[in-house]
Parts: sequence; structure tokens; C-alpha cells
Amino acid sequence: MTSGTRLLLIGPPGAGKGTQASRLASAFGVPTISTGDIFRANVANETQLGLKVKAILDAGEYVPDDITNAIVADRLREPDASAGFLLDGYPRTPEQVAELDRVLAEEHNGLDAVVQLDANTDEVVSRLVKRAEEQGRADDTDEVIRHRLSLYEQQTAPLIEHFAQRGLLVRVDGLGAVDEVTERILSALAEFGVAASR
Ligand code: ADP
Repeated sequence: MTSGTRLLLIGPPGAGKGTQASRLASAFGVPTISTGDIFRANVANETQLGLKVKAILDAGEYVPDDITNAIVADRLREPDASAGFLLDGYPRTPEQVAELDRVLAEEHNGLDAVVQLDANTDEVVSRLVKRAEEQGRADDTDEVIRHRLSLYEQQTAPLIEHFAQRGLLVRVDGLGAVDEVTERILSALAEFGVAASR
């Protein structure tokens, strides 16, 4: 199976990944798989997983790789993901990259592109502070925001170079109106040779 488009969206907290992810997924006709959304839904429903990860999310820490990897591997094996997917917020560590490659190799599949959504720190902090006021997400407090950003810089930003070396990276500026950024991503992907179906 090699049909469908397999995309990753990577960028700092507050870069607008969630918003762009659902727009891109519908443009490509693939499901969005957002690990943050999966964890938050489990916390809200007080599932066994949710009870296990609630304190981790509240503190802005990364959920341990074994838990995160198992969830994504299961999700990728669901039928709808066989025709492609857009992963939002995964992988965030080298171990997650290795696991994703392993799961895709099982199906003889690989990634088509990795979209890096760029945003400077001042901009993302002010977006997150605003979102905290609007949505009251438990991990959008000043201190936790700073911690999430520093984890991103230490653990996730280095993966960008890894994907660049694999020739998969498409870098897009996340600054601007939502529609504008979506168009920017779609044209950057098209230029890269990955065209949306609708
Ligand atoms: P943000 O990009 O603003 O951090 P997300 O919704 O992507 O928001 O993630 C929220 C939280 O979910 C993270 O702070 C972390 O606790 C957990 N999480 C999400 N994805 C991962 C992942 N790939 N590995 C570990 N933890 C994750």
C-alpha cells in the first residue's frame, strides 16, 4: 500500500498546528491524528489512560514514549489511516521517530513530507496566553507554557534537522491570517510535489 498522502506537522506550541492540521487533512482527504487531542479526550473522559496522563499534561511534560508510541501505532492501524494521514504533534522525540518509521515500514509505506510550521517565541507565547483566556486549557499558564516551549526546543526542534537530511522538510512561516497560512502550506507542498486532492 503506497496510496494516499502521509504528512507530519511539526512546530512549537502555539504555532497554530491544530488549526492548520484539520484544514490540511480535509484538503488531502486524510484523517488528522493529533496526540494532544487524543490525550485531552482521554483526560476529559477519565479513561484509564486519561487518569495516567492528566498530571503530565497539566505540567506540560511529554507523555512517556512507550505510552505515546502504543497509542499512535494502534491509531495508524485503523482502516481509515491506510489511505494516508496527517500527524499533528507526533513524533516529538527520536524514539517516536524510530517507532513511526517502524510502523510505516510494516506496511511498506513512508512519509511524503514533514511540514515545519515556524513561529517566533514572542508570537507563540502571546497566542498561548490569549488561548488560555479564551479556552482555559489547563496547560496554558505562563509557567507551563514556558516549560512546553523549552521541551520543544530541547527535544523536538532537533528532529527538524533529521527530517531535512532525509529530504522531507517543507518549511512554512506560521505568521499571518489562518487562511493565508493554509494557502502558504498548500502551495509549499505542491511545489515540493505533494498536491492536495481537493
Ligand atoms: P502543544 O503543541 O501546544 O504542546 P498539543 O495538543 O500538541 O499542544 O499537546 C499537549 C500535550 O499533550 C503536550 O504538552 C504533552 O503533554 C502531550 N503530548 C502530545 N503529543 C505528545 C507526544 N508526541 N509525545 C509526548 N507527549 C505528547
